[in-house]
Amino acid sequence: MFGIKKCCLIAGLLCWFCIGLFGQVPESPESRFRCGDWQSYLPDTLHPDHMPGRLLRVNFHIMNSRDSSHNFRPEAGRAYCKRLLESANRQLDTNIRNWRSPEGTAVLPKNYRYVLWPQPGDDGIYFHYDDSLYYLVYVGKNQNNYNRKVLDKYGIGLDSIVNIFIQVHPDDSIRSRTYKANLQGIALGTALKVAGLYEQGKDAFGHEALLNHEVGHLLSLSHAWMEDGCPDTDKHPNKCWEWTEQPPCRDQATNNMMDYNAYQIALTPCQIGRIHQVLSTDKSRLRRCLVPTWCELREGRDVVIRDSVVWSGARDLEGNLTVAAGGSLRIACRLSMPAAAKITVEKGGRLWLDGALLQNACGRSWEGLVQPKRKRKRGEVHELKPAKWEHCPAPGVVQRK
Ligand SMILES: [Zn+2]
Repeated sequence: MFGIKKCCLIAGLLCWFCIGLFGQVPESPESRFRCGDWQSYLPDTLHPDHMPGRLLRVNFHIMNSRDSSHNFRPEAGRAYCKRLLESANRQLDTNIRNWRSPEGTAVLPKNYRYVLWPQPGDDGIYFHYDDSLYYLVYVGKNQNNYNRKVLDKYGIGLDSIVNIFIQVHPDDSIRSRTYKANLQGIALGTALKVAGLYEQGKDAFGHEALLNHEVGHLLSLSHAWMEDGCPDTDKHPNKCWEWTEQPPCRDQATNNMMDYNAYQIALTPCQIGRIHQVLSTDKSRLRRCLVPTWCELREGRDVVIRDSVVWSGARDLEGNLTVAAGGSLRIACRLSMPAAAKITVEKGGRLWLDGALLQNACGRSWEGLVQPKRKRKRGEVHELKPAKWEHCPAPGVVQRK
């Protein structure tokens, strides 16, 4: 009995010694997730500056017949696109509880927006007159919604801008009693084709949900009423356009952006995590459509770690990073630092590198790691798994554990 106690005492002392020597490795619910998990990309509401908001570049193409009788004229079209964008961004700035998520599910910021992206000499809103490509048919023998011809002919910067094609339902389809000329959209790579907006004759406010829903598809989200890989969206019949006081829509209505309903505003943590995973993944086509705000050092964007933080997913910072006294940071994925920026670990601060890649994602030079000495002591940097440093000088004092 005494032997076991003695063992425990020695083990305890050793443990205390280790913690005293190396400090506690920061653990959090995020520590068990890796770069490829959506859980690693949830906006941190306590530290919003750790994941700067994303800006997705977009442009618009108003497709019209050659006699310009089937879609917005330039002045009205420009005003419409600007209002649509403003309204869509307002929806992205808002999130509310997903009605069909388990009780207690968090409501997180969506953390991305659109920005109209012109080319030199234009405003990013284009008007095309083409009798064979101005219309979209989503069902029936002339179905063309999956056809990419209009993208190939009129797309501008498809490798780096989300191109939004506003088409119309054709006259003969509209005349058919079985064809519904309602709001329709299709997501194709980095482009969208939508129809029904002009025909409805309504203001752009009210059409933003279609835009956000289709961009949601571009950003990898499936329909939420089906099996979409998210534990916080449930499968349901998707039969309720609006909530009503009577069943079944009293209990089955939904407000998710990726369901069909009159609200389409809520995104769950899993859906938001998936979006930011796509936007943080190097090879993703949609990442190339972001304004690369992480290349250069931006004023007022420095991040200071003062508590215990784990970054299990990739991060693109826009300023210097400092681990201050009492703070500890564990990096387990890719971290991009802006050009000329540095990571400073102050005395009393601890940085844990857990298989991290530290780089400038735009290939520019940055200053790497700095551990200033104060009273003969420096901040600590420990490697749990080997780190890779790119585009910067080799780091100085890194302890392996
Ligand atoms: Zn859809």
